[in-house]
Amino acid sequence: MTEIAVGIDLGGTQVRAALVDEGGNILARAEERTDAMAGPDRVLGQIQELAERLLAGADKALVVGVGVSAPGPLDTESGVALDIPTLKGFQRYPIASELSRRLLFPVSLENDGIAAAIGEWQFGAARGIEHSVYVTISTGIGGGAIIDGRVLRGRKGMAGHIGHMSVVPYGELCPCGNRGCFEAYGSGTAFTARARARAAECSETTLGKDGHVIDSRAVFAAGRAGDPLANRLIEEEAEILGRGFTSLLHIFSPSIVVVGGGLSHEFDRLHPGIQNYISEWAMPAFKDVQVVRAALGQNSGLVGAAALAFLAKTPSRRAAC
Ligand SMILES: [Zn+2]
Repeated sequence: MTEIAVGIDLGGTQVRAALVDEGGNILARAEERTDAMAGPDRVLGQIQELAERLLAGADKALVVGVGVSAPGPLDTESGVALDIPTLKGFQRYPIASELSRRLLFPVSLENDGIAAAIGEWQFGAARGIEHSVYVTISTGIGGGAIIDGRVLRGRKGMAGHIGHMSVVPYGELCPCGNRGCFEAYGSGTAFTARARARAAECSETTLGKDGHVIDSRAVFAAGRAGDPLANRLIEEEAEILGRGFTSLLHIFSPSIVVVGGGLSHEFDRLHPGIQNYISEWAMPAFKDVQVVRAALGQNSGLVGAAALAFLAKTPSRRAAC
């Protein structure tokens, strides 16, 4: 019988749980809206309920443990949330020990970007690859790096805050409180804000006309219909991402960059511009590095969280981690 693990993807909007086997296959799943303002006791109760619902139909003897992916910053060495901005009351809160007490399984806690990087490394687009960087482009920008076949965690497990690379002095305000971060320019939120501002000044576009809301999906749809402003905005977004990724290539020297998150739905449209930027601006030895779409889609973090439990259990895998 194959062993199984419980993966939990705790977000500010949704909390998702899955039973995952050793091959990274999702055997069962459950999710609900996060009661984000209700405090840790209620949110951990939600996780407990989802996990117990999934485990009710499983052989508990086959369960190796629970992995939790959560937004940072977290101290993943001690399993403590330091301060999760989207979840009320998660300041210096011991998620791992508290959840382990409730579920009676070992619990590993990981930053959501790193968990997704692990998911893609163990079971997705970076499977079998020693050096990869995962980047999620969504409301914000996050990620994680697998280098030399090991998860790069850094002090307190906080490595991989890719969105907060400082790229513009005194630039746009970032949700982290600083100015000029990569996220403040390249995230889906920044892309949409730029589209709204530019469409308001442009009479030669269909964007936002007739009272239609401008979101990233609308910009890509208008681009496909030949709207010049929409296509310019998409090219600019690809260039911003390409610029950020070029720095990642130079710093980490990955064999591939894996892109996930909401904007990766339009990966095919963004990819040529990203790759063009890299081939123009990366140092010669880095120009051939490929940027690819996440293979696990929106499940990278969920499956990666379960992979944490397998990695924590198996000494040989832990040695490689
Ligand atoms: Zn920032």
